[in-house]
Amino acid sequence: MYDPIAYTYDADHHCEACAEKRFGRCRCGDIGYAYRGGDSSGRHEHVELTDSEGNAVGAVSPFDEWWEPSEGCQTLACGTCHGLIETQHREGCEHNYGEDACDLPEDAIA
Ligand SMILES: [Zn+2]
Ligand SMILES: [Zn+2]
Ligand SMILES: [Zn+2]
Repeated sequence: MYDPIAYTYDADHHCEACAEKRFGRCRCGDIGYAYRGGDSSGRHEHVELTDSEGNAVGAVSPFDEWWEPSEGCQTLACGTCHGLIETQHREGCEHNYGEDACDLPEDAIA
């Protein structure tokens, strides 16, 4: 089980801190779910929380491909606080063991 790097709701990506502020956490630590009863062993049911469009809150895992492969180096920023969440460098980029200059400005790299 990997902790998500970001959450998706309101048609955008958001960082963990902003998602927690918006939706809170279940007592098990999950964001995007509310606690709904359980037994003494800690097993419990979840109520799925939804965004302003009625869609379930989504989670992006470290191995999920959030980037567009055709678009060069990209950053994943939070739609709420605009903080940088992740950076993905294209093949050949200097930050990906390549020889080409990075497509991103220096200060945009995580
Ligand atoms: Zn839970
Ligand atoms: Zn944020
Ligand atoms: Zn790059």
